[in-house]
Amino acid sequence: MGDDDRVSVPSSPSGRSRGCGVPDAGSVDPDEAANRSEHWADRGRAGCEGPAVPPADLRAMGLALHEAREALRTGDVPVGAVVLGPDGALLATGRNAREVTGDPTAHAEVLALRAAAGARRDRHLDGCTLVVTLEPCTMCAGALLAARVSRLVFGAWDVKAGAAGSVRDVVRDIRLPHRVEVVAGVRSRECSQLLLDFFRPLRRGSRD
Ligand SMILES: [Zn+2]
Repeated sequence: MGDDDRVSVPSSPSGRSRGCGVPDAGSVDPDEAANRSEHWADRGRAGCEGPAVPPADLRAMGLALHEAREALRTGDVPVGAVVLGPDGALLATGRNAREVTGDPTAHAEVLALRAAAGARRDRHLDGCTLVVTLEPCTMCAGALLAARVSRLVFGAWDVKAGAAGSVRDVVRDIRLPHRVEVVAGVRSRECSQLLLDFFRPLRRGSRD
């Protein structure tokens, strides 16, 4: 942890970050981010596998990783998510299913939130935690706010599309009526490795 801290993401000067420390929105140069050929490889900045991360979050990330691996069965990008209730109980799971469903919105987070709301019979998920293997995109960050999720725990950073501290920080935008506590980088190496293993052969094929 920390030895691959090569991301040009400065620590938050405002002190707004919680958990392992997520940078403020806009602190990543978009051009630099776009030029990274393997933008998950070096997300391991200040990984959160240490004692500061609650064991429940580490265990939940294990479940999310299982969901991510299951997504591989359908040729989908391996991203998995789970939702925990206020008492820490597992409410729902989800995995990326865009390929298998043909639905551009079928991201792991959206599917997990829908299932959690169904399980609770309440579209508001106050007090709940969403755990996901990859930093949410803008759509999923918006879904987190719409559902009023209280906490977000994610694994790998996504400097090309991340909306929880990388490209932007939708979930902690003080101009919006709801904000989410963020813990970033939990089991980040396992999460990013899944993505690298998935995309590396595709990249190699595209060059042939
Ligand atoms: Zn998304």
